[in-house]
Amino acid sequence: MNPSDQGIEKIIRGDLLRLTAYQPIVPPDVLSQEAGVSIEGVIKLDGNENPYGCSSRVRDTLAAYPFYHIYPDPEQREVRQALEGYVGVGAEHILAGAGSDELIDLILRLFLNPRDKVINCVPTFGMYSFCTEVCGGEIVDVPRDKSYAIDIAGVKQAIDEKTKVIFIASPNNPTGNIASESDILELVKTGIVVVVDEAYFEFSGVTVAPLVPQHENLIVLRSFSKWAGLAGLRIGYGVFPTSLVEHLLKIKQPYNINVAAQIAVKESFADIDCLNDTVKAIVAERERLLAKLEKLRFLKPWPSQANFIYCAVLDGDARTIYKELQKKGIFIRYFDTPLLKNSLRISVGKPEHTDVLIEALQEIGGKGSG
Ligand SMILES: *Cc1c(COP(=O)(O)O)cnc(C)c1O
Repeated sequence: MNPSDQGIEKIIRGDLLRLTAYQPIVPPDVLSQEAGVSIEGVIKLDGNENPYGCSSRVRDTLAAYPFYHIYPDPEQREVRQALEGYVGVGAEHILAGAGSDELIDLILRLFLNPRDKVINCVPTFGMYSFCTEVCGGEIVDVPRDKSYAIDIAGVKQAIDEKTKVIFIASPNNPTGNIASESDILELVKTGIVVVVDEAYFEFSGVTVAPLVPQHENLIVLRSFSKWAGLAGLRIGYGVFPTSLVEHLLKIKQPYNINVAAQIAVKESFADIDCLNDTVKAIVAERERLLAKLEKLRFLKPWPSQANFIYCAVLDGDARTIYKELQKKGIFIRYFDTPLLKNSLRISVGKPEHTDVLIEALQEIGGKGSG
């Protein structure tokens, strides 16, 4: 080891030195190299991205935009105004982030003192624990029940004087199920800040966003990454009690929403019928994919309200299936952790992606049982 590295590392925060890195997605060009297939041949079902891409209005408007040399609006006036109509709550309740991921981080920065606690209903999205640790907080895992519903009694029991925030993904990633409104309100009653992450709202149609103005401690997060095909531009938003928006505006990076993302929001709403059609196509394809996965004896797929399907592997090894699919240029996620034993998460693609995937799975399954 270079002694000067060791020297400088000494002054890094001890908790961050020990932090395990977040496992991010692998970009398509790297995937195509790894699998030895052309980039056009890659079937990417590992990121819950929209296979239909963004609105063509977004592409065209971005190409013609003349003012990229001007800084974006720190108060996000146009974006928040556009979201007011879409969400159905006043713009004073809304704040946008560079992806909802940025808002997860900002919320935690606002509330956490070192070693304050955040309740995480596991298995769930990895960003809640990751951002908590980066902010110097302590994550408290409360496992979901056998059907991946939130253990409300368990969450309440886990609350103590250090608890600041409870995260609930609804639909949950990777299990695809939603949290009921009554469960969410039960947790809101505790007085702890409840963050309901609705990144997949457009696929479930279920939301608690209209309830935010009636509560002091309820936050809803949404994203343009999944339904609007804008994962690469990083744009999400939160619905907050107005008093929190004021403080978040104060602590956020002034130019957190770039100009391209601002334009993309406006043009996505201008083309909303078209985007809603792709959401409908994805929802229909989800049900078709579910029916096909159910026919494979070695998998147990779970019903989903999102744009992905979680599958337990009943016979065989999730990692082997993942590897075999990768050889064919098909990319999915696999898990093998205590709470996500031997399982897969498959993003819903286009019908032709489903067909290729199912054929590949039939082949692999045949080998596994042989
Ligand atoms: C994908 C995802 C996000 C991230 O959204 P961005 O807006 O791209 O940051 C947030 N929450 C959950 C549960 C997700 O699966």
